[in-house]
Amino acid sequence: MKADGRPLRDATLLTQLGREPGRHHGIVNPPVYRASTVLARSVAEHESRRTHEGITYGRAGTPTTRYLEEAIAGIERGHRTMVVGSGKAACVLTLAALTKSGDHVLVVDNVYGPTRRFCERVLRRFGVEVEYFDPRIGAGIAERLRPNTRLVFLESPGSLTFEMQDVPAIAEVCRRRGVLTAMDNTWATPLFFRPLEHGVDISIQAVTKYIGGHSDLVMGAVTTGPEIHLEVREGIYEFGAPAGPDDCWLALRGLRTLAARLERHQRSALEIATWLQGRPEVSRVLYPALPDHPDHALWKRDFRGATSLFGVVLKPCPMEAVHAMVDGLELFGIGASWGGYESLVLVAHPERLRTAVPWRGEGPLLRLHVGLEDPEDLKADLEAGFARLRRAAGA
Ligand SMILES: *Cc1c(COP(=O)(O)O)cnc(C)c1O
Repeated sequence: MKADGRPLRDATLLTQLGREPGRHHGIVNPPVYRASTVLARSVAEHESRRTHEGITYGRAGTPTTRYLEEAIAGIERGHRTMVVGSGKAACVLTLAALTKSGDHVLVVDNVYGPTRRFCERVLRRFGVEVEYFDPRIGAGIAERLRPNTRLVFLESPGSLTFEMQDVPAIAEVCRRRGVLTAMDNTWATPLFFRPLEHGVDISIQAVTKYIGGHSDLVMGAVTTGPEIHLEVREGIYEFGAPAGPDDCWLALRGLRTLAARLERHQRSALEIATWLQGRPEVSRVLYPALPDHPDHALWKRDFRGATSLFGVVLKPCPMEAVHAMVDGLELFGIGASWGGYESLVLVAHPERLRTAVPWRGEGPLLRLHVGLEDPEDLKADLEAGFARLRRAAGA
């Protein structure tokens, strides 16, 4: 906020938040503070420390961590952010911090696979009941809530299949019934959707993806409003899984260019998604920014933009033909994660995960991440891939 009360816009905030040149010899970026031990000046000071909040011990973070947390909280319009060692940790430690044996948790059916695996392998073992729900349930979530429902976990658009949720409708029902909501908002980033402004209690980011932006770090962030901040922070602190200070510094560096990168990611993704829709080998493109996506209206109502990760359902063809296409791509690397400057492709298998609404694709599903390359080069790479696909399919 400027002195005249005018709030700064996101692109400006990204250049201002989480740095104090005046405290560092005028140097633009804060330094990396690495620490385990933090010395106290007296026994009394040492004994009165609140370890999860202050600069008290390396596990609780250093000033570098705090600069990043401040910056993310600022662009999320949250009260506080806590960064942890991975995006997965941000998701699952939130679940673990807020639930106990006997609680019931509702998780969206298109949730990120590793988050789902934690629910199956760990939460259930600790006596938490987990159920999955149709991403398009909307206010119908009311009928799935039970007296012991503690938390509803959202991700919109969800992983691999990109159905959207009516987040404000779900959050409102939950708020009325005293049920917490958490949302994995990695796809949109706080620039294109801010969960807390739509009634969600906890906003989660895999910093690894667009905030990091350069495929060189793994980190997660959990942002909350003032009401739940302490409970979440203390709960997560118990797991002892901090983000390292060097990674925090890299994430801050990534954050500075997030708005500029997302603008380009968005433009190229829309161009390539639209181009793919016209390809004879493609059955559908799963990208909410496309006008004929079934959830386009929700996306348009709630989101400020679309990032560059989407699905491509091919027309039925042999898997060997898909391998021939993907293996030969030169600019799209085959790899997990996304949000970096380079384009990526994966053959995705949501049918192995889904239970509430089984996935039935007409043909194989590709997940594309459109990087910062020139889109003409990317189209040429895909075009050559489609030629290999047709040849291998004998078409
Ligand atoms: C990648 C990803 C995560 C996990 O992030 P990591 O840092 O790889 O653990 C969580 N949620 C979503 C939606 C993701 O795509």
